Amino acid sequence: MLDHEPLSVAAEAGQILPLYILEPCLWNQPDVSYRHYIHLRHYLSQLEAMFERKRCKLIIKVGDALTILRSLVSKHNIERIYSHHETWNKFTRNRDKTIREWVAENSVDWIECQQNGVVKNLKCRDGWSTLWHNYMRKKIYEVPKKIHGISEDSDKLPSPQDLNLEFDGFKPNRDFGTTEPEIVLKSFLHERGENYQREMSGPLLSEKSCSRLSTHIAYGTISIRTIFQKTEEQAQKNKGLFGSTKRNWQASYNSFQKRLRWHCHFIQKLEDLKSIEWKNIHPVYNKLKRETSHSKNFERWMRGETGFPFVDACMRSLISTGWINFRMRAMLVSFASYNLWIDWRPTSLYLANLFSDYEPGIHYSQVQMQSGTTGINTIRIYNPIKQGLEHDPQGKFIKKWVPELRDIPVANIHTPWETPELLGNYPKPIVDEKRSRVSASSRIYELKNLKTARYQAEAIWKKIGSRRTSENDYLKSKKKHAVLQKEFEF
Ligand SMILES: Cc1cc2nc3c(=O)[nH]c(=O)nc-3n(C[C@H](O)[C@H](O)[C@H](O)COP(=O)(O)OP(=O)(O)OC[C@H]3O[C@@H](n4cnc5c(N)ncnc54)[C@H](O)[C@@H]3O)c2cc1C
Repeated sequence: MLDHEPLSVAAEAGQILPLYILEPCLWNQPDVSYRHYIHLRHYLSQLEAMFERKRCKLIIKVGDALTILRSLVSKHNIERIYSHHETWNKFTRNRDKTIREWVAENSVDWIECQQNGVVKNLKCRDGWSTLWHNYMRKKIYEVPKKIHGISEDSDKLPSPQDLNLEFDGFKPNRDFGTTEPEIVLKSFLHERGENYQREMSGPLLSEKSCSRLSTHIAYGTISIRTIFQKTEEQAQKNKGLFGSTKRNWQASYNSFQKRLRWHCHFIQKLEDLKSIEWKNIHPVYNKLKRETSHSKNFERWMRGETGFPFVDACMRSLISTGWINFRMRAMLVSFASYNLWIDWRPTSLYLANLFSDYEPGIHYSQVQMQSGTTGINTIRIYNPIKQGLEHDPQGKFIKKWVPELRDIPVANIHTPWETPELLGNYPKPIVDEKRSRVSASSRIYELKNLKTARYQAEAIWKKIGSRRTSENDYLKSKKKHAVLQKEFEF
């Protein structure tokens, strides 16, 4: 409830009906899963407790959002609705459109407050970073001192089974029930984060050295602005340190704040180009003809049975914990998109279900980036053997998640097929790593290098690209650019 503008402004204005609507239709969408619902219920119960401490009740209603709003507005004669401007998926966008039409027809005000650095109806990407910094430096909304609530009954929350959400292997860790976002942030800024930059890519080290705030951010239990300002505060304090400790912390805070900006930068992409969720960002890649059905290879990738130990360990760990670091996510996608030549759409849906921190704006943009379909990013094909050697040299992570390889000597842990007598039940590689990588690379570059593809890439960059890199490459000719924008429809 800290830095929650709609709640603070509404509570200041008078009597309110604090409402959470649980929409069964949303929970029937293919990108949401059992583990998301477990998190939601957990965070909702914490929110209910916070309201109780304010001697007020959070009202929970279950059903279609418009039907519920219609009935509550008429029953309590409500004049104004306050909420955050939601930037989520196609379902929530369509829902909000319907509600916007209804409030307009019924003379109800709907105030949608900005909730992070994402700007609604952004006209142009130039200068976005300045807008982001301005927003992050604005005053944080305090928790309202008093809340005068209207009395209304709550509905009972459905069980996961009621919503057809099947158990998906997620096992909450020890801290799940107790750790509040402020405590997670504090431990990162004061203790865990000192070697953030160096350790963020190691699968075991990153569990501690990364902030681990993504699920909290995705569910809104802490605002990006709060995190940004607390980091600034701590960075100031740490200026008094000396030597390598000081340098480490400065590097950590800089990298961390950069990533907080990326968070909003990626969601802004989806906000400005809705089709990122379902269409190749660059249309030239429609010609790639990757596999879209659930093939045997795809299923083995899903289960972590590809025969590449590092890929399999990452997937199995993700299935069980709901989290894995950035590089490992990128490698999982790269392996599916390039080595197995699977279309990013089924891959992204499967991973969306597994990531506890699923955030459509980041997710689809990143999956497309790691699949080579944006047209504006460098193509990166991760070699899983090299990644394993660099980030899990002793194979400790592999042995933790792929127990079949327990007896394989360290020298062969990333290439166990070289000791077939010790393989046991563990599968042989499902593809030839090098051959599949080279083939994928040549197919992608053939399209990327087409002159027409490069022109279209300029228009894409203009609409959604980061302004901190490649500006000169893409804006060599402003005149040519204007013509291209007209030609290229998003
Ligand atoms: C294919 C793929 C899919 C991804 N899907 C998601 C997703 O659905 N939800 C999600 O929150 N992140 C996603 N990420 C980005 C990133 O992997 C996670 O944000 C990060 O691993 C979360 O752990 P953390 O909170 O400890 O991160 P930290 O390293 O501590 O970073 C702090 C915060 O910065 C933001 N952030 C960090 N890295 C990135 C990034 N590369 N792009 C955008 N924001 C970033 C996140 O909000 C994160 O919580 C994806 C990355 C890839 C490659």
